[in-house]
Amino acid sequence: MAYKTVNPYNNELVKSYPDATSEEIEKALSTGHALYKQWRDEPIADRAKILHKIADLLRKNEDELAKIATIDMGKLLNESKGEVELCAIIADYYADNGEDLLKPTPISTQATGAAEILHQSTGVLMMVEPWNFPYYQIMRVFAPNFIVGNPMILKHASNTPGSAAAFEKIVKESGAPDGSLTNLFASYDQVSDIIADQRVQGVALTGSKRGGQSVAAVAGQNLKKNSMELGGSDAFVVLSDADLDTAVDLAWRVRIYNNGQVCTSNKRFIVADNLYDEFLAKLKDAFAKLKPGDPMDPSTTYAPMNSARAKAKLQGQIDKAIEGGAKVAFGNGPVDLPGQFIQPTILTDISKDNPEFYDELFGPVAQVFKVGSDQEAIDLANDSELGLGGIVLSGDPAHGRAVAAKIETGMVFVNSFLVSLPELPFGGVKGSGYGREMSQLGLNAFVNDKLVVTSQTPDWGNPAGGLAVFGGK
Ligand code: NAP
Repeated sequence: MAYKTVNPYNNELVKSYPDATSEEIEKALSTGHALYKQWRDEPIADRAKILHKIADLLRKNEDELAKIATIDMGKLLNESKGEVELCAIIADYYADNGEDLLKPTPISTQATGAAEILHQSTGVLMMVEPWNFPYYQIMRVFAPNFIVGNPMILKHASNTPGSAAAFEKIVKESGAPDGSLTNLFASYDQVSDIIADQRVQGVALTGSKRGGQSVAAVAGQNLKKNSMELGGSDAFVVLSDADLDTAVDLAWRVRIYNNGQVCTSNKRFIVADNLYDEFLAKLKDAFAKLKPGDPMDPSTTYAPMNSARAKAKLQGQIDKAIEGGAKVAFGNGPVDLPGQFIQPTILTDISKDNPEFYDELFGPVAQVFKVGSDQEAIDLANDSELGLGGIVLSGDPAHGRAVAAKIETGMVFVNSFLVSLPELPFGGVKGSGYGREMSQLGLNAFVNDKLVVTSQTPDWGNPAGGLAVFGGK
């Protein structure tokens, strides 16, 4: 059984889950496909009511859901609660705005008749999601596509099956029809078979480059539309006119939130030389104040990593970076607790030839760089194979925005935490993937933007009419 919850705080095996059977997969596909056809004839407003109900149930069950996520993957209980609330906000947003956002778009045309684009559902989608935000990652795909009318099959990470099952249960309890979201404890091969099935019209994956490459290859072979939300090595640029205390206060939070296991958690801190020494000293102080412990305990401020595998991978990367010349400014010591803890760590002096220079360090490790100018900061920020997000800090918002505009990523926030909200598009460029989730763009990711032109009668005389243009008259 590949799917199991192992509590990363105490390494206890909490529960194993049986693998998906061929019968379950066939049922998910046939139920989903039948639902797609049924939904085409039903008003969006009906689904909006159910989505509001899902938001209500999430809020009502927040404590229980938060515990499940924290036991699955170790994040602080308060962070889990915040994640559940964010899911409810996303559900409410699409329930309130989905119908309006999906209204037909009229086009002014030379053709005879009224031209418009209808935004229609396409069919069953496969979603493959990671463990780091075990509810929010599902909701980013679920809420918009539920409103659109695309039924979904979920393959969640093998270490967060409790959260996957809990999310599916909430959807069922809301009165959503069977097939709206079917969670399957599927293997990679089964995921490939599902993507290849003719009833499936698209696949959304959030995860690593490795996972993205494999799933995108299967989607490509089968000509299935796909969106890829992959890793990030986001820059946190502290310009020479930034307020230092604000910068540090934001820096430790963005790096430590969710134990640094966030695609948009800033991993590279690029600091103007006039602020560098003080920034580094204050960042060390902030990291030193963190208190590791049981993530269920409200007094804990520092959580374990999600799994033994993730800890081993990150420790290997730290070791490699140090062998490659990086200096440890803070951390990289043992944590005297049984769980999957890595001490918060600060690395400096990471040169371009360091084997970890281009790697994403997916955990509580800050890489700090010193730069002599805005241009140097921009060049370093852009010297990355990834292009997800970023933060720019400046005492002058216009200065910050000008620098932000030159950063080659999908999202940049100036003087602010990078927030994820349903009205804001989320996604990256370069190795961080393609497509956007949430906002109008995410809503349209798997719709059929169908052109319909309606004339009273054919107008053979119109030179811009189709037949005339093609010489068919
Ligand atoms: P991962 O190994 O790619 O896993 C993500 C999901 O993909 C899991 O459900 C995994 O299943 C599945 N998967 C992997 N290979 C597969 C294959 N060949 N066929 C079918 N499913 C496959 O990612 P991770 O390392 O756990 O997650 C962290 C990564 O996700 C980081 O790089 C992070 O930056 C990125 N991330 C990106 C975003 C974003 O929005 N851009 C958000 C969060 C995280 P198993 O668990 O069974 O292996």
